Amino acid sequence: MSCHICVNCGVQYPLASSPPSHCLICEDERHYVDKNGQKWTTREEILGKYENKIQCEEDGLYSIRTEPHFGIGQRAFLVQTSHGNILWDCISYLDQKTIDFINGLGGLTAIAISHPHFFTTMIDWSHAFGDVPIYLHQDMKNWVVRPDKCIHFWNGETKDLFDGKLKLIHTGGHFDGSQALYWPDGASQRGVLLSGDEPQVCMDPEQVTFMHSFLNYIPLNENKIRRIMKNLQLVNYDRLYDAFIIYGTDGVILEKAQQIVQRSGERYLKAITKDSN
Ligand SMILES: [Zn+2]
Ligand SMILES: [Zn+2]
Repeated sequence: MSCHICVNCGVQYPLASSPPSHCLICEDERHYVDKNGQKWTTREEILGKYENKIQCEEDGLYSIRTEPHFGIGQRAFLVQTSHGNILWDCISYLDQKTIDFINGLGGLTAIAISHPHFFTTMIDWSHAFGDVPIYLHQDMKNWVVRPDKCIHFWNGETKDLFDGKLKLIHTGGHFDGSQALYWPDGASQRGVLLSGDEPQVCMDPEQVTFMHSFLNYIPLNENKIRRIMKNLQLVNYDRLYDAFIIYGTDGVILEKAQQIVQRSGERYLKAITKDSN
């Protein structure tokens, strides 16, 4: 019996004697099934074949990535606050070295995940750190392929965590339940937005974008862009970290991120609602 992991997207399924016949995430129009067919692995099988690179991005913020590339190249973050540490987004590979490092920082108090492309092995991460709660927006419920009592669904537009030291913002868009994490004390109290892949930093770091599917080039509609822009104006931030450092970007906008996001949203609306670009 094993919890099988989809090699293509990195999501983990419940304990079973054989791998699932399909992957919900890969078969969705936002993703794809590998041309050689679906492949499966397990945490036990990949142990020792990968390594997590943990990097301090700024005071109180660490990024965590797996090398060599696994799944869709997800990166997670650990945010430290006076009320505990949160893991934002998740990666499939989890070994004792990673657990020891995080425990050296004080362990985890909670996990929150931007959208289903980052569900990966979130249940194992929760269990490894004392069954900490995983906060997901209610509209992601149908995408949870490995249910567990550690998952807490929330509803509405925002949710304060850690006594207001962090705030989840429901953005919708890429997935109906997509959410971003706001860290007001980040960037020397100028505010940090951890965006998942919505928005995503572009090749030109003065621009961000929003997509229904990045891999299949499916844009979002006007209503969804307006909703994302409106909800991201509920907080004040100056710096933004996204979910990837692939596609040739650094995945960060160090300053003036809020103006760049709003300007990029306006630009996007112009592109999808007018004849001329
Ligand atoms: Zn998959
Ligand atoms: Zn995604």
